[in-house]
Amino acid sequence: METVVNAVMLRAVDYNENDKILTLLTAENGKITAGIKGVKKAAAKLKFAAQPFCFAEYVLAKRGDKYTVINATECESFYDLRTDIEKFYAASAAVEAADALTYEGDEFREIFYALVDTLSKISNGNEKEHLISFLLYVLRKSGYGINAENCVECGASLTDKDKLRFDMNAGSFTCFECGNGAGASQVTYNVIRKAEGKTYDESFITSDGEKRALRLIREYVSFKLNTAFKSLSEYIRLI
Ligand SMILES: [Zn+2]
Repeated sequence: METVVNAVMLRAVDYNENDKILTLLTAENGKITAGIKGVKKAAAKLKFAAQPFCFAEYVLAKRGDKYTVINATECESFYDLRTDIEKFYAASAAVEAADALTYEGDEFREIFYALVDTLSKISNGNEKEHLISFLLYVLRKSGYGINAENCVECGASLTDKDKLRFDMNAGSFTCFECGNGAGASQVTYNVIRKAEGKTYDESFITSDGEKRALRLIREYVSFKLNTAFKSLSEYIRLI
């Protein structure tokens, strides 16, 4: 039986001499794994379909519970992601998060479309800002949202405080006096508010602030999911 899906290639693992096993995030069937034959040969017609960030229409043959890719038509190659190292790692971090926060056997249509949109935006624009927005979005969709509102302990507004804290358990900011989380700055707080579409103070939106926000997200993911986002760490190291 043949199935056609729109998918982003999340991960490829070598298999046999010339084959690979792909992890695909599809619009129609959630996350699936599918074998693809012969793609390690130099002249392989479907070589592109096993490349990082490939967004394509994949034709799959299903036998039992196993998929094999039998054809693919590229929708978008996001070529710029492979020629700029910062964009490459930012895009890798987005893909890594999409992979870590989805699983087989459920639909992830919204995350799929957000990922395609993010890869396109990272390819064409400020990758830091778009990566932060995507990470926050996929965390929220998975029940790990970061709350950049008032102090989660006392309810006071945090916009005029010099020093804040971030509570890893609650995924929320607090006044410095109220909480016992790690210290956080207005810069980080405002970058996250901006990425979440909330009101923010433009003077706090700096490149350093975006880097700090990415560090906070990395620490939070490590704490909540007990998993290291390696591409995100590499990206933070580069910027
Ligand atoms: Zn407070």
